[in-house]
Amino acid sequence: MEQPLTQRADQPLKPRNKHRLKARGKRHTVPKQAEPKTPDPQPPVAGVPVPEARPAKAQKADVPIEEQKTEGPKTSGAPNRSNDNRFNEEKSRQKKQARPEPSAPEPSTNTESEPEPPAVVPVPTQRPDVTKPEVEPPVVAPQPPEKPADADDKKMLPDPRSADLPDAKMPAEEVACRERLTALGVEFEEHKAESNPDIGCSIPYPLVLKSLGKSIAIGPATELNCPMAEAAARFAANVIQPAAKAEFGADLKSINQASAFVCRPRNGTRKLSEHAFGNALDIASFTLSDGRKIEVGPTPPEKDAKFLNAVRKAACGPFKTVLGPGADPDHALHFHLDLEPRRHGGTFCQ
Ligand SMILES: [Zn+2]
Repeated sequence: MEQPLTQRADQPLKPRNKHRLKARGKRHTVPKQAEPKTPDPQPPVAGVPVPEARPAKAQKADVPIEEQKTEGPKTSGAPNRSNDNRFNEEKSRQKKQARPEPSAPEPSTNTESEPEPPAVVPVPTQRPDVTKPEVEPPVVAPQPPEKPADADDKKMLPDPRSADLPDAKMPAEEVACRERLTALGVEFEEHKAESNPDIGCSIPYPLVLKSLGKSIAIGPATELNCPMAEAAARFAANVIQPAAKAEFGADLKSINQASAFVCRPRNGTRKLSEHAFGNALDIASFTLSDGRKIEVGPTPPEKDAKFLNAVRKAACGPFKTVLGPGADPDHALHFHLDLEPRRHGGTFCQ
């Protein structure tokens, strides 16, 4: 949900039927009644194999187009829930497409964009013959090869953190992080490790936060990794609380989060979200001790805007990615904060 994925350059645009056509042409060498080699609009005669030379398809630069369509940056402002649904739909569509075909002699590196062949294949120019070919044809007309690369192509881009699984003994840095959280007054519970090898998400030492400090609540139930929990707790105490006091003369009572650990990719990309590692927190609103609620949005009231801008600006540094209204439509209604490791300790704040 941060940066759109750049277009993959590793998809060659080579026509996939060339090789097949050639091989097939060789097969039909049996002389026959002079048949003009013209396009034949008739459907195949039953039982006779029809080579599906599909020149139109071969010429189509289908991969990049499809990728743009399905993988390109989304502009919907839908919250995470619907993104998850969309992702699941996409997954189930892949599964359908990845259905193995009985005759797939040529694994192709071509990809997901290949649509299912139409039920009635229009017969192109080279109608081979109505006589018997040398080789006894299979009973069922051959299907175009379905690509096994199909499923691979929709996989998330690899992230080394996907392989993180919990050790039998909690690492020292995780233990130390928990001690610091306790010192900050954060209440939390240990949660069982979660991972999904298909998608690539993994959170080996998750915590569920019950509070973000001695007098700062967070809800609903917030599952994060410990470094992110600590960063959020420190930020709440050191930045949000003083900003609330300065602007409204009230204390920060609670943070209402929109998303913490979620096993999903970034919106519209194949890159895993920091949420997939429990390394990101989306904040939708802040509630103050006087009952005032300050919501993140594109056009907050002036006083709220001042507070929100101060918080957002100060978040850049403690958090490595900071996004919010105006960054892109996905972040119109929340601040996204994460600890994505970046080269040279850089930040990405919009
Ligand atoms: Zn987010």
